[in-house]
Amino acid sequence: MKRLIDTDPEIYDAVKREVNREMYTLELIASENFASEAVLEAQGCVMTNKYAEGYPGKRYYGGCQNVDIAESLAIERVKRLFNAEHANVQPHSGTQANMAVYFSVLKPGDTMMGMSLSHGGHLSHGHPINFTGQMYKVITYGVNRETETIDYDEVLRLAKEHKPKLIVVGASAYPRFIDFKRFRGIADEVSAMIMADIAHPAGLVATGLHPTPIPYAEFVTTTTHKTLRGPRGGVVMCQEKYAKVLDKNIFPGIQGGPLMHVIAAKAVALKEALTPEFKEYQGQIQKNARAMAKRLQERGFRLISGGTDNHLMLVDLRNSEITGKDAESALDKAGITVNKNTIPFDPRSPFITSGIRIGTPAVTTRGMKEEDMIAIADLIADTILHINDDEFHSKTRKIVREFCEQYPIYKERLA
Ligand SMILES: *Cc1c(COP(=O)(O)O)cnc(C)c1O
Repeated sequence: MKRLIDTDPEIYDAVKREVNREMYTLELIASENFASEAVLEAQGCVMTNKYAEGYPGKRYYGGCQNVDIAESLAIERVKRLFNAEHANVQPHSGTQANMAVYFSVLKPGDTMMGMSLSHGGHLSHGHPINFTGQMYKVITYGVNRETETIDYDEVLRLAKEHKPKLIVVGASAYPRFIDFKRFRGIADEVSAMIMADIAHPAGLVATGLHPTPIPYAEFVTTTTHKTLRGPRGGVVMCQEKYAKVLDKNIFPGIQGGPLMHVIAAKAVALKEALTPEFKEYQGQIQKNARAMAKRLQERGFRLISGGTDNHLMLVDLRNSEITGKDAESALDKAGITVNKNTIPFDPRSPFITSGIRIGTPAVTTRGMKEEDMIAIADLIADTILHINDDEFHSKTRKIVREFCEQYPIYKERLA
């Protein structure tokens, strides 16, 4: 970053601090990951300079030959990876991807169904403070109080009662597999369409380690920066018959010029995702999550739904004095990054919460295995036991740092 240090020392300093934070703390936020150096190089490339409104071969600007190569590769690869009929790689984010589908299917005032945020859904699935909650009539479904898994019978009952045009399937804080086939059956009973949002488990879906929604959903959206380990961004896949309406709703519908440097980086990440190593990596994410969940349970923590099928788990702190907010803050002092999260039927507010969400994608990228997860689970448990002991947290922080040094990332970015 020799040029950056001269031009803007303040930003250089912030970036350097972030490199150090990522290198020497344990990143357990379930929606985060470390993109490869190749992805970062593509994302930092000159394609950021190029306007390319339109699609490959049909642009509104000259000089698009090179960015067309990048976008065509990204499209081909995403279709191959997920076995999709059509793909659009231009959405700037997961929320933009979802917006494009809503605009393709719904008119303002139409009825849609989505999973409630407090049961694990996403803001963009119909929350009142999101545009979806303001534009559409939203019916929310959730998990069963006993099993803490999606209540499919309740989904069917609600669908029959409210006749939604679109059912959104997917979540941000749901530790179990989702039965997309079952959702297809429900949608067919009321002639609804399905948008499956696989932002979180996309890497597992791509490698066959999580059920795929592709044969069951008219539209599938994802982010590229979570388990998929690419640059920050979104993708929409759909059945061929919806290709035209989808593309039109992304550009010119809701976006102008695509971020061609990010699309180039998406292509690189998708190439990585098509390798056997990536499948092994996803399998390790899942094994690591299971090892961590088991150890946390052995240490006396209750997990929502009793465990995990995917890359994340939700710790239930309801029967303790400690809130999700307290736990997040103590763990932060110890160099362990998680996020507080509401749990189903949470008695505390979303700013306080009774849960923490823990995910293994980022630590798995560093090369950590099951025995490391057991060690991390113990650090988490001990930190929560010493919730107000700052001296204990600084000692843990040192242990965490030494631990991280054994699994280096950013060898060339050492600042
Ligand atoms: C992360 C996430 C998104 C949104 O991604 P952004 O890129 O932050 O807009 C959408 N849906 C689900 C289920 C997510 O988990």
